[in-house]
Amino acid sequence: MKVAAGAVLFFLGFGFTQICWAQTTGSTNTAGAGASAGDARSAAVPAVSYVVFGATGQQEALVRSQIEIMRPAVLPLRVVFVPHWKYVDNTRIFHLRVPAGYNSALFTHLPSRTVFIDADRYLVESLGYWLAHELGHLVTNSADEHEADNAAREFRRRLKDSRNRGLH
Ligand SMILES: [Zn+2]
Repeated sequence: MKVAAGAVLFFLGFGFTQICWAQTTGSTNTAGAGASAGDARSAAVPAVSYVVFGATGQQEALVRSQIEIMRPAVLPLRVVFVPHWKYVDNTRIFHLRVPAGYNSALFTHLPSRTVFIDADRYLVESLGYWLAHELGHLVTNSADEHEADNAAREFRRRLKDSRNRGLH
């Protein structure tokens, strides 16, 4: 039992270290975004940027372009790509239950507005579809799957419109 308790503490510590690290990275990025706005007032404007952590350049570009198209009223604070083993640990740390029928490659930790993506299991083709669901949790600030899906409908419509425009 002693070993098990130690393991839990280790994983908790590891999880939060990662999140803190992401925040440090974020403040750097935010400063850059503010400077490019070139406006002294930007300091008073609420942060509209978020951090993508653990992603390849391609993954980050994909997430950012899709969130830009979906234009959620509430942005995540961070989107974190994690290897599968760590994703599984995080779902346990956050006491997450993934309901049957829902994708298990993404989940949102609402209190920290963090979207976790299983870097080994997500599919490029359906990332936007499921990201819409996670944004649904954020904009409704609800863990309810049906509320999240209802909110996701509008985001999925925007993604579809954008894809259709790309065909012309
Ligand atoms: Zn959900």
